[in-house]
Amino acid sequence: MSTAGIDSRRSAVWWQRIRKDFPILDRRIHGKPLTYLDSASTSQKPRCVLETLQRYYERSNANVHRAIHLLAEEATFEYEKARGKVKRLLGADDPREIVFTSGTTAAINLVAQSYVRPMLQEGDEILITHMEHHSNIVPWQMVCEQTGARLRVAPIDDRGVLDLDEFQRLLGPRTRFASFTHVSNVLGTVNPVREMTDLAHRNEVRVLIDGAQAVQHGAVDLAEIGADFYAFSGHKLYGPTGIGALYARGDLLHQMPPWQGGGEMIESVSFEKTVYHAPPHKFEAGTPNIAGAIGLGAAIDYLLELGLADVARHEAEVLEYGMQVLSELEGVRLIGTAPEKASVISFAMEAAHPHDVATILDREGVAARAGHHCAQPLMERFGLPATTRASLAVFNTREDFDRLAGGLRKVNEIFG
Ligand code: PMP
Repeated sequence: MSTAGIDSRRSAVWWQRIRKDFPILDRRIHGKPLTYLDSASTSQKPRCVLETLQRYYERSNANVHRAIHLLAEEATFEYEKARGKVKRLLGADDPREIVFTSGTTAAINLVAQSYVRPMLQEGDEILITHMEHHSNIVPWQMVCEQTGARLRVAPIDDRGVLDLDEFQRLLGPRTRFASFTHVSNVLGTVNPVREMTDLAHRNEVRVLIDGAQAVQHGAVDLAEIGADFYAFSGHKLYGPTGIGALYARGDLLHQMPPWQGGGEMIESVSFEKTVYHAPPHKFEAGTPNIAGAIGLGAAIDYLLELGLADVARHEAEVLEYGMQVLSELEGVRLIGTAPEKASVISFAMEAAHPHDVATILDREGVAARAGHHCAQPLMERFGLPATTRASLAVFNTREDFDRLAGGLRKVNEIFG
């Protein structure tokens, strides 16, 4: 994310102390301190989020939007307050443009089925990029299968930078929708989402941005980007699992039919006719993840208090150091070297398969990820079955990359 013009306000020692907010980081793994470098998979949770969950269940647990008793009022109030916090995080205009979902995957499927599918005809096209997570590929393949539409894929170069000219060229007369990631979960590439959105809009194509790897690493301003839909997951943003959100422009949400039917999403039901609630409740059938939403609200408070501009600057510094350290190691090939990059470093080692690398790192207390990271087409693009991936959160410091490098030297000793 862009850090231009941001003043350095907090020292490395200050960021080191952030570790204390995360109780799990006190754990020892195989007798070593935990070095957690897998936040792109899921982030750890600060104490304030854990305490909020506990307090909610101990004091206010009840179903939302239904009963008149005090507990239900409190639960509803907190749940809707959390919606307001998501609105603030994304810079949306109105909390009614925020739909709670179980995560990014559910948000994308909702848009694919409710907004995009009804407009598709045989031969229409949906544009994505080569660096998408399976969550932003498969739902589009499914609507293509259902309608006879075609998936088009904008290519990337060897650094992992999107070919913007090709993206523009692929926005043709049959393109009905574009969906692309803000930040790649494998390469760390930060896409020029504002430009991409502008290009799509000039072709009267609406866009969804997958923000799963973006919102927690730098300020997202929807007014600036101009996105029609924006999706993210709470569990990658220091919140609980099973909760996330979809931002959708109000006028589009009003056009969309509900995707799932059930309780909570209706105003009245008879066997002859059902009247749906207005958005966003129309899209939240069944008892929602109330505790999850409230916990996500606490996570957003935590992040906003740290200051997203400061978070971006700190993580950019640590990332740069990590890239430097890894590039100096023997037999390490960095995958993803885009100039605009955030929070993720993927690499391959000459000496060993990523699974062996991750196993040795684990013995050193270093939690890193090995695999295809739910991006198999991208792996294929780089001619690899898998990579090892180190990904950052606010509590990571240079020392974490020194420990990672120590582990990788061991890999070279053992397998080299
Ligand atoms: N998109 C991206 C870029 C991701 O990194 C992920 C999670 N790895 C997802 C989508 C899916 O998120 P979730 O599993 O929380 O729905």
